[in-house]
Amino acid sequence: MPDDTRRSCGAAVLDYTQPIDTGDIPDDGSAFDVIVVGGGPAGSAAAAYNAMNGSKVLLIEKDLWPRDKPCGDAVGGKSLSHAKELGVLDLVDESPHYVVDSIVFGSANGSEVRVMLPKEAYEAQGLQSGYALPRQQFDWLMFYRGQEIVREHGGAVIQGYSVLEVTHEGEGASAQITGVRVKEGGKRGDGPELTFTAPLTIGAGGYNCPVARKITEELHGEPLRDDDHFCGGYREYWEGVEGLDGDIGPIEIHFIDEVLPGYFWLFPVRDGLVNVGIGMLISEQRKQTGMKKSLKKIQQWVIEEHPRFKERFANASMISGSAKGWQLPFGSPRKKAPSFQPRRNAMAGAMTVGDAASLVDPFSGEGVGNALVSAKMTSAHFDRVAHADGFPESAAVAYMTDLWDTLGKELSNSTKLQRMMKWKRLCNYFVKRASKKPEIGEMMSEMIASKETQKVLWNPWFLFKTIVLP
Ligand SMILES: Cc1cc2nc3c(=O)[nH]c(=O)nc-3n(C[C@H](O)[C@H](O)[C@H](O)COP(=O)(O)OP(=O)(O)OC[C@H]3O[C@@H](n4cnc5c(N)ncnc54)[C@H](O)[C@@H]3O)c2cc1C
Repeated sequence: MPDDTRRSCGAAVLDYTQPIDTGDIPDDGSAFDVIVVGGGPAGSAAAAYNAMNGSKVLLIEKDLWPRDKPCGDAVGGKSLSHAKELGVLDLVDESPHYVVDSIVFGSANGSEVRVMLPKEAYEAQGLQSGYALPRQQFDWLMFYRGQEIVREHGGAVIQGYSVLEVTHEGEGASAQITGVRVKEGGKRGDGPELTFTAPLTIGAGGYNCPVARKITEELHGEPLRDDDHFCGGYREYWEGVEGLDGDIGPIEIHFIDEVLPGYFWLFPVRDGLVNVGIGMLISEQRKQTGMKKSLKKIQQWVIEEHPRFKERFANASMISGSAKGWQLPFGSPRKKAPSFQPRRNAMAGAMTVGDAASLVDPFSGEGVGNALVSAKMTSAHFDRVAHADGFPESAAVAYMTDLWDTLGKELSNSTKLQRMMKWKRLCNYFVKRASKKPEIGEMMSEMIASKETQKVLWNPWFLFKTIVLP
């Protein structure tokens, strides 16, 4: 990636391409109040919020910083309010980024509408409407602050150690998670193995988190992954894409035939650098045949052949080594207790957050915001004194209920929107109407800023008068 990395942060100078010193490794057998598995945004925030709540926290990350994470790199208002609370927003402001002031939606038949984000609503909270910056940079800053807060509060942070086993006592669904066994360099590494214990272990290890696997497959006999609720995502970084320069402006989402019900995106992340990617439900992807099988191939075809995009990429070049695929676990509607399907998020001794809890918005693909919301919620449900002998099942159920009460409505609405996008004609019609009727643009802008407003969309009279009436 082009070098523009050093930025001052108050008196200090932070360089997000450099390693982060996280201090000494705790002794084998050490006990903590909270162990957090994974140092992405969810884990860094969960560790910081629990430390700020008085807990002695151990934060464990398998990679060494700096590390990359395939993503669209858009950081919305929900994420920014937590970044502000944790002291990360100032660091983001000091480092190169793109300010997102609007979203361009494109439909399969070529209609486009640019929806301005409601700047005033965000400014009232002292925030920009949204940022885009490479996750390598955003996650570095989140982890940097997370480890600082954890260590200031008497906890410890480990990098380069992978959690190989989540330990438990008891059997099956009535077991209690008790801690973790870790190894330097992962399974194949030749470093030492260590064990740590805590009344609460938080799973923040992403879509394949060992804590989530333990809670679902291993102890409840439930699936960790379901292709109807998992999305494949693929991203590359490009320079020189026509129409996308400067450090403020729109991000672009295109619902094109070859990708529906997913989308093709163009998200600038700083002046001249654009994150280009594609996302599609894995079950839908499997239905595709021939050359359009892999997301990488579909993206290559769009860039080289699609009549609307090939000109824009004519003088552009891909940053070598930036092509990466990953998975997005969607926040599909959950069944009520005792099922909690398709994803159980907690049990005695453990809670999961972010992608480990399958909370990615099914329409927008945004996952960082809900990762940070869920991370903060764990600190409200864990009481280091009351739960000193173990985080009980009743508290786990309370967390799952609270999580779904908080996020369920917007995630369910997004699931409906995502399914609607399968209907190409409706998608075409909607974008075309929005380009001609300002109220529709305003409604879309409101929907993006306030997920609560999405429920208005399901009012048939509102839909009729906004979309159908001239
Ligand atoms: C292609 C793509 C585009 C996306 N676009 C956007 C977007 O534009 N905006 C947005 O908000 N979201 C987007 N998302 C979703 C977003 O990337 C995720 O929701 C977000 O990364 C979740 O954060 P997390 O901390 O839960 O998990 P991760 O970011 O996956 O972090 C998990 C961490 O846990 C560590 N870990 C894993 N296993 C272990 C282990 N055994 N031991 C120790 N550590 C472990 C990993 O190394 C990693 O650092 C996108 C996702 C994809 C794939």
